[in-house]
Amino acid sequence: MSQNPPAALDVERIRRDFPILRREVHGKPLVWLDNAATTQKPQAVIERMVHYYQHENSNIHRGTHTLATEASNAYEGARARVAAFLGAQSAQEIVFVRGTTEGLNLLAYTLGASLSPGDEILISAAEHHANIVPWQFVAQQRGATIRVAPVDDRGDLLLEEYERLLGPRTRIAAFIHISNALGSVLPVCKMTRLAKQHGSTVIIDGAQGVPHRRVDMQAIGCDFYVFSGHKLFAPTGIGAVYGRKEMWEQLPPWQGGGMIEHVSYERSTFAAPPHRFEAGTPSIAAAIGLGAAIAYLEDIGMDAIERYESALLAYALAGLQGIKGLRLIGTPRERGGVISLVMEGIDDLQVARALDAQGIAVRTGHHCAQPILARFGLTSTVRPSFAFYNTKVEAALLVETLRAIGRQRPAP
Ligand code: PMP
Repeated sequence: MSQNPPAALDVERIRRDFPILRREVHGKPLVWLDNAATTQKPQAVIERMVHYYQHENSNIHRGTHTLATEASNAYEGARARVAAFLGAQSAQEIVFVRGTTEGLNLLAYTLGASLSPGDEILISAAEHHANIVPWQFVAQQRGATIRVAPVDDRGDLLLEEYERLLGPRTRIAAFIHISNALGSVLPVCKMTRLAKQHGSTVIIDGAQGVPHRRVDMQAIGCDFYVFSGHKLFAPTGIGAVYGRKEMWEQLPPWQGGGMIEHVSYERSTFAAPPHRFEAGTPSIAAAIGLGAAIAYLEDIGMDAIERYESALLAYALAGLQGIKGLRLIGTPRERGGVISLVMEGIDDLQVARALDAQGIAVRTGHHCAQPILARFGLTSTVRPSFAFYNTKVEAALLVETLRAIGRQRPAP
């Protein structure tokens, strides 16, 4: 393994921004490699939320007093930050939701209402359950069919198969940006272009995309892009759906309440997007926290983050190569964030417990992606997942601990 630092990014300074990274687990420094499940929060995000509760707390949009105005401005300011971060054309293209799962359910419910029997929804084989189950609801209700574009043995999407599955009945193409189970980066620009040629609406599950690279809605050209704040160094309970303005304008509301223009006992008319899709008091502090997280990331720069993480992943993967009994699940040509593996002859839970004993947090299980694990003949993997605050020292500790676990394997 080379000892050169992966890229110009002052990780030690960055780590000081994350108070939780100073804690210990079992007397060892915490090594947080569970970033695909959720990320840690920088002090700037924590302080922004504390400031909101100490100085600005109010319900938004409906008040004329000073605090209502300040809270509304902060909330709408966060929306504008999300819009700029994604390269949206206006803040009105961003709808706040609780997270990716809620965002995908919103889209399935509203877009699904216009599907007819025989219409097709095309997804990839690498989807998280959040981009499978809502479409199953829609397919059952509307008589639509779900088609699945396969991946190869490396975990890369088979683009020709995807193209073959697109047809005149494809109304929706909904796919993951980066697989949370294998780390594969899908060719989302090409997939979008192909689906658009067939007149399909394109939805991207960006839960594992935005934390790891710059994403630009104009460059990708999709209709909708969904992500969760908590995987982007922001609090839980907040996420966003980007949608092209003309797409949102066509969609009906999905939850009824205070998202109206006018209500009588007989009928209601609805507010314009994005407010049409945000019934009820939202997670105001969390949205403001998301805005602060994005400001923090922009300060570091998403391109620098991508370069750093890519070198760090390459370093970790090189280290894992020689470990006896270790099998990588998914060897995609382009990888983001995640490494999935199994140790032959050792239960995943046992591996995770042995890592935890060294302070290393990783996830085991099906990662809410049972179909793609089944594609590899598995029901579970061990999944270390990286962020820009992880270091080569941490990656080396992961490698050495796995090597030691490998040595203790029972003889075959
Ligand atoms: N999609 C992907 C790719 C994910 O990784 C996750 C979270 N594991 C989700 C969707 C669901 O996100 P959330 O639980 O924040 O709604």
